[in-house]
Amino acid sequence: MRDRSGRDDPGTKTRRETQVRRDEIAAGLAEVDERIAAACRAVGRDRGEVTLIAVTKTRPAEDVRILAELGVRDVGENRDQEAAPKAAELAGLPLTWHFVGQLQTNKARSVVAYADVIHSVDRVRLVEAISREAVRQGRNVGCLIQVALDDDPARGGARPADVPELADEVALAEGVWLGGVMAVAPLGEEPAKAFARLREVATLVQEQHPRATMVSAGMSGDLAEAIAHGATHVRVGTALLGRRKPFVR
Ligand SMILES: *Cc1c(COP(=O)(O)O)cnc(C)c1O
Repeated sequence: MRDRSGRDDPGTKTRRETQVRRDEIAAGLAEVDERIAAACRAVGRDRGEVTLIAVTKTRPAEDVRILAELGVRDVGENRDQEAAPKAAELAGLPLTWHFVGQLQTNKARSVVAYADVIHSVDRVRLVEAISREAVRQGRNVGCLIQVALDDDPARGGARPADVPELADEVALAEGVWLGGVMAVAPLGEEPAKAFARLREVATLVQEQHPRATMVSAGMSGDLAEAIAHGATHVRVGTALLGRRKPFVR
């Protein structure tokens, strides 16, 4: 049944609406790409060293499809309830799925089924749960150790002092590979200072695990500071796709 706007149902966008959204996303992508390129130039890094992860949480699958058509290959989600159906719907697209949110061990089974890389590994129990599920499902899942750059336990992350041991755990576990480290800049501190501490932790991890070169840091507001401090993966939502509804992380 069509309503007066010519839609088949209220959830289906008209071709014109889809085109408008595509233009918006293309503009956001061009702008973010230019910010990444400028941040690389500013510190003499090669643009190819930094991968953009489009954080698509709270966005419909259609936005992810548009991003894929525009050449984005890495997408990030932070809630399993939302990510699992989205990843299933878009399973045919050439996308690498990054899970960037805090993860409970009882969600490991679901997340391992679609996530290629989990950025929020911050405790041994979680490593064990991810490894067990990855082996059971025949998957090989990348794990980044999330580093807490402040003392707020609500935001997740391992204390810097605990990171090397956790990295060893991941490196020894089956069904997973150690990618490197991840962090979110704390509130109320200059991001550059926090990312400098992350770089120290990343360097320590790489001394023991030379292939664990990923440094996931930088979001819409602080991607340049992160790139200046060695980020290899920036996780960008708002600057690409617009503001999310309030109170949704
Ligand atoms: C939401 C989120 C992002 C993206 O944040 P923006 O400010 O919208 O770019 C990055 N990383 C994590 C862990 C997130 O939850």
